[in-house]
Amino acid sequence: MHDRQAGRLRVITGPMFAGKTEDLLHRIRGARQQGDDVVVVTHALDDRYGRRIVASHTGLSTPAHAVTDAEAVAGLALARPVDLVAVDEAQFFGIGLVPVLNRILDAGIPVDIAGLCMTFDGGPYEPIATLMAHAEEITKLTAACEICGRDAAFHQLRHPEAHADARESSVARVGGAEMYEARCRRHFTG
Ligand SMILES: [Zn+2]
Repeated sequence: MHDRQAGRLRVITGPMFAGKTEDLLHRIRGARQQGDDVVVVTHALDDRYGRRIVASHTGLSTPAHAVTDAEAVAGLALARPVDLVAVDEAQFFGIGLVPVLNRILDAGIPVDIAGLCMTFDGGPYEPIATLMAHAEEITKLTAACEICGRDAAFHQLRHPEAHADARESSVARVGGAEMYEARCRRHFTG
């Protein structure tokens, strides 16, 4: 039988400060207003699983399951027949998120994810780069360049000399948003 409903992958991406979570929260709210059962997942960043609030700067928010490994996303998504799986901070789950999302999508469940597609030094950030290749729909957002205010597709370390360890690992997983700033192509020096 091949009449099974197919899942659909939507990727919301861009640099830091681009409003990715805001966009995801709007989609979650819209789906819920249509009566959809939405499971929201974010990365816990540490080993404390539990409930967490995903919030945007404009005040939109929703409770979310906070987990650390991709397999846990499948557990939450497939535990009951949900209408939409929404994953914030998807870049932190690593490349293991790709086969997990494929299983969810193969089960006919749409998936919306938000996450960084680029590291602070301009490299591709997996798994988002691969998921962008797989996606039916991509929303690529930009921030405002901290120098000139133009469209910023990049972000970089605000004080690179103070974060040598982050530069070594290339993909900084620790540290808050204050460590970074958005830059346009002309002013990106990462
Ligand atoms: Zn600029």
